[in-house]
Amino acid sequence: MNTEPNSLEPEPELVALSPQERFQFSCGPGISCFNHCCQDLIQALTPYNVLGLRRHLKLAWPHFLEQHAVLYAGPDTGLPVVSLRFAPSRGRRCPFVTPQGCSVYSARPTSCRLYPVARALQRSRQDGRLSEHFALVKEAHCRGFGHGPAMTVHEWIDGQGAREGLEASDRLMELIALKNRLRPGRLAPEEEQWVVMAFYDLELLKQEAAAGRLKGLAAQPPSSLPDAGDDYAWLNWGLAWLQRALFGEAR
Ligand code: SF4
Ligand code: SF4
Repeated sequence: MNTEPNSLEPEPELVALSPQERFQFSCGPGISCFNHCCQDLIQALTPYNVLGLRRHLKLAWPHFLEQHAVLYAGPDTGLPVVSLRFAPSRGRRCPFVTPQGCSVYSARPTSCRLYPVARALQRSRQDGRLSEHFALVKEAHCRGFGHGPAMTVHEWIDGQGAREGLEASDRLMELIALKNRLRPGRLAPEEEQWVVMAFYDLELLKQEAAAGRLKGLAAQPPSSLPDAGDDYAWLNWGLAWLQRALFGEAR
């Protein structure tokens, strides 16, 4: 049986899933399609996911980019986007897939944790509130359905350790929505460098903050900055600075 994804495979089926509905899905080395989904993807990474992978691999941003990722302008937002480098020389496989499975499992990106669940956010035009919607992604090559305990989508999210990554994605989506509303199209080259720094290059962000070289911020006393070792706090701090630097106090 050929379980590999290929160009002749039918389009994935999306089956809407309410928060109360249960589904069964399990995946692991015993399954015939093991690892076959970790190839031929465009795996865009959020800044939170890049940070998790960098910490796991102990790589500074420039080395992570050089070895494992590509950086380009997102076609919809004009903002810098990072994707994993699925090189043709490796059969377009993920740089982290091994015969034993995912070599960065504890730091795998949120989309890998969520699969086969897809999540979309919708903002109400009436009150501006966000609501989340879920679907199951059913692909012909994937044999994981019908195995394992029945669970709801929120049990799945918690079981996969995807909650924090989703919250970080939601914060990012707020910033992107603001950017699309106030500054559609590409930013100025200097501003794009700020975005790369605040999203991905936290070592540089820390240096620039300490030296007072960030737009709108004089040199900051260490006590007013996040703890040097708390990269997740720095990521949030950098996003807040970036939002002010690009859009002022607009909401
Ligand atoms: S990061 Fe891990 S789970 Fe995600 S595509 Fe790569 S090998 Fe697969
Ligand atoms: S069951 Fe689905 S998710 Fe798991 S390895 Fe197979 S194709 Fe990938």
